[in-house]
Amino acid sequence: MVGALAALVLALSAAARVDAAGPIPVVTTSTDLKALVEAVGGDRVRAESLAAPLQDPHAIDLKPGQIARLKTAALLVRIGLDHEPWLTRALRAAGEPRLVRGSPHYLDTSTDIPLLQAETPRLRDRGPVHVHSYGNTHYWLDPENARPMTAAILEALARLSPADRPLFAANRQHFLERLDAGLARWLQAMAPYRGTRVVVVHDSWPYFARRFGLVVAASMEATPGVPPSPGALAALPARMREARVALLLAEPYSNESVVRQVAARSGVRPVTLVPSVGADPAAADYLALFEVNIGRLTVALRAPR
Ligand SMILES: [Zn+2]
Repeated sequence: MVGALAALVLALSAAARVDAAGPIPVVTTSTDLKALVEAVGGDRVRAESLAAPLQDPHAIDLKPGQIARLKTAALLVRIGLDHEPWLTRALRAAGEPRLVRGSPHYLDTSTDIPLLQAETPRLRDRGPVHVHSYGNTHYWLDPENARPMTAAILEALARLSPADRPLFAANRQHFLERLDAGLARWLQAMAPYRGTRVVVVHDSWPYFARRFGLVVAASMEATPGVPPSPGALAALPARMREARVALLLAEPYSNESVVRQVAARSGVRPVTLVPSVGADPAAADYLALFEVNIGRLTVALRAPR
């Protein structure tokens, strides 16, 4: 009874926050989620990402203005699991009882995703460390996962603004058509390189690698979020040569001097990939993110060694 009453109050407050004329205020934890919300919501949403594209998404310090935005959001969209260890603190600071799991104002897009590495739970260190404890959280980097993610976004937006459901559905359909065309192109571009071995800095790329036929031979961070020990770093170049690794995949916020050092000592070409929408000006939306990454990879793989 109390549960039903609470649900009713939440539903009423949901309706109260969505103005039929104005756009629906949405706060996402990442720019990738923002891009997917915009793909479905179009002009009917005004989305903002808490993490900036060039920040390590697992280590964000929010400004007071962003906490204030959480208070006025009709919908919070997050990656979930332990991807955003900073969000708990931010939600506590915002003090918004609406922004909780099960509320129409809260969407965790991991719910419908078949997770990788979920079978190897890790023990958490104390403190806000991102360690993929419940499975790998970088699932948006497989474009196929945009299907369940946009389906969940469509349901959440339509719950807040039922009259707009046909518009949201049409927007999503248009997005999926462009996604299908992109996927066919990207798979074709990567087909000659199936089985290419790569080493990554942070374990951000298992979904991407599985989709496009790369083999992740090792992560520089043996424990995600924890920099490698000097001993492990010293041993890595020889291991990379033995394993015939072709590329070292870094991110814009990776430790540049460590990447340069390992690349020089192993003779393996470093490539900086774009892990999130907006981290490179050309990766302006979700589809462009893959366009840029596939472009960088094929250029590096085609180049003479
Ligand atoms: Zn991670």
